[in-house]
Amino acid sequence: MSLLNVSGLSLRYGSSQALFDINLSIDAGEVVALMGRNGMGKTTTVKAICRMLPSTGGLTFDGRDLQRLPSHKVARLGVGLVPEGRRCFRDLTVRENLLATARPGPWSLEEVASLFPRLGERSTQRAASLSGGEQQMLAIGRALMTNPRLLILDEATEGLAPIIRQEIWAAIARLKRETGMAILLIDKTLRELKQVSDRAVIVERGATVWSGAMGTLPHEVTERYVGV
Ligand code: ATP
Repeated sequence: MSLLNVSGLSLRYGSSQALFDINLSIDAGEVVALMGRNGMGKTTTVKAICRMLPSTGGLTFDGRDLQRLPSHKVARLGVGLVPEGRRCFRDLTVRENLLATARPGPWSLEEVASLFPRLGERSTQRAASLSGGEQQMLAIGRALMTNPRLLILDEATEGLAPIIRQEIWAAIARLKRETGMAILLIDKTLRELKQVSDRAVIVERGATVWSGAMGTLPHEVTERYVGV
């Protein structure tokens, strides 16, 4: 049984239908890339999974029907989201931001600082005073402090300097290698996505058009649906 199973998911924003038929699954320990051009429905899919937007279709996590749950319960079941746009409490310190989401499990302030030493060094600094890259690390740290079984990263490297992007990709690779956490990745950098992901799911206009092992993703498919 897959950890996350999404089948025939559809969603409307008022009169406009954004998702028609999204199908994807993630097993424990798997890293899956959710790919597609801008506006094709990746962020909307993630919001539907986290129950931040109402949708119809099959949505289960560890055998539980997520469609029946409010978003805070989805988080409590073990779905950790790093949303687009690095959200955190700007007036709280790094440490306070991390403690605000903490739930029992292996992830602690020390573990997060070991993954992102900059956060450890800046633990008493207000989040508003961090650089964009550090805020992104804090957003990832906040999701890890919930001790998720599935971590969802929506554009975690967007708009960051190359050196910071490298640090974030290295952290994702380390999470994969050392924790066996399932990870769903949305990102625009194909090369790194290919290196770290086991499988790819490609969406086009709100529907899954291809899914399979990353190593078998044909160049024509990326060219046609991801625009590379
Ligand atoms: P991007 O990479 O640009 O973030 P995406 O694949 O994540 O793209 P979504 O943000 O999920 O795409 O958008 C899917 C579709 O839903 C688009 O047509 C978008 O315009 C529309 N959409 C997104 N958010 C809203 C909203 N709040 N109200 C109405 N339509 C929306």
